[in-house]
Amino acid sequence: MRSNLYFDYCSSSPIHDDVLVQLLKVSKDIYSNPSSVHSMGKEADDLISASRTLIANTLSVGSHEVFFTSGATESNNLAIMGTINSFMCRYNSKPHIIISAIEHSSIYNCCKHLEDTGIELSILSVDANGRVNIDELRKCIKKNTMLISIMHVNNETGVIQPIIEIGKLAQQNNILFHVDGVQGFGKVDINLDNIDLYTISGHKIGAPKGVGMLIIKENVDISPLMYGGGQESGIRPGTVNVPQVVCIAEAIRLASLEQDDNREKLINIHKVVRDSLGMIPELVINSPNLPLVSPHILNFSYPGVPSAIFISILEKKGIVVSSQSACSSKSSKLSRVLMEITHNEEISSSSIRLSFHDSNTTSEIKQLVEAISKSVHQIKEKGMFSSLLEEEQYV
Ligand code: PMP
Repeated sequence: MRSNLYFDYCSSSPIHDDVLVQLLKVSKDIYSNPSSVHSMGKEADDLISASRTLIANTLSVGSHEVFFTSGATESNNLAIMGTINSFMCRYNSKPHIIISAIEHSSIYNCCKHLEDTGIELSILSVDANGRVNIDELRKCIKKNTMLISIMHVNNETGVIQPIIEIGKLAQQNNILFHVDGVQGFGKVDINLDNIDLYTISGHKIGAPKGVGMLIIKENVDISPLMYGGGQESGIRPGTVNVPQVVCIAEAIRLASLEQDDNREKLINIHKVVRDSLGMIPELVINSPNLPLVSPHILNFSYPGVPSAIFISILEKKGIVVSSQSACSSKSSKLSRVLMEITHNEEISSSSIRLSFHDSNTTSEIKQLVEAISKSVHQIKEKGMFSSLLEEEQYV
């Protein structure tokens, strides 16, 4: 049994108990190919249809607008590249895309790659809270602007973007609007009325890893990124993973159902941790205040102490946290997101992201805060050298 206390739920969350029951049952019982014409294939296909309908009803969209993928990275790439490819085929001209400077790497790097191929890209800066400015966005819009992609909740600081206003602006200008909803879904209210494409990842909301979903509204022209069979209306070919699809549908239903109760719990946790860390003068809180932040995330820095060292000190005390997104943390010591928000290298290289779960208890939160406070004291007393870490002086 692991004794660590885990505060890295943004990177990945445990499978919801009710979802796990479905995963085991469907994995065991439904093994036929849902595209097969025999009755067992039909049974599998019926489960996909039921899952699609469940998601459609939960999100108030049509079931023909729900597309299953392998995860949010794929959904985000499909949303961007699929719409761009379709536009270029139809108009034989290069479109313009607008994103923010703090998008997840699956949007940011995808768009940077497209820029290398000649697509016009505008990257919006963000204010000191990490929010996009609507006037700046309005000024960025050009005749050939085809797509705006802005995340709902940032995965490092938890800042919530003004997606309702952005959606209205996009609609007024006949521009497609994609929202990466990975960290927002189940945490912050969402209305897809002015959103054309919307991404969810299974493993952030209590489903297993390796499944995601993209809402593609019927007005959107999109090309597939892969070619194969006619699954998912030919937009995402390949044998559909029935157990995973059932799981993400159930996780979406539960996340939506439990959102209000869980939000209350997360707000309480967020406030307690923020107040406690606010009393440690060495620490700088990087997340904006409630209600501008999703309560399941709190980001802080101990300027001068590299993130990896603080993470390691906390881990020796049985506390698991992270710095930037797990997808980026192995490639860079400096958080791109924090750099864009703070323009401060010391803060950006020392950021720590705490992410909470509704199951976290008062005692766990107390242990977290005590461990952070103790670590700060130890670093102050002993200095902060990796050799000292190796000697386990911080245990
Ligand atoms: N977008 C955001 C905001 C994320 O936090 C993540 C996961 N770190 C992703 C996209 C990618 O999700 P997945 O792991 O399902 O590919």
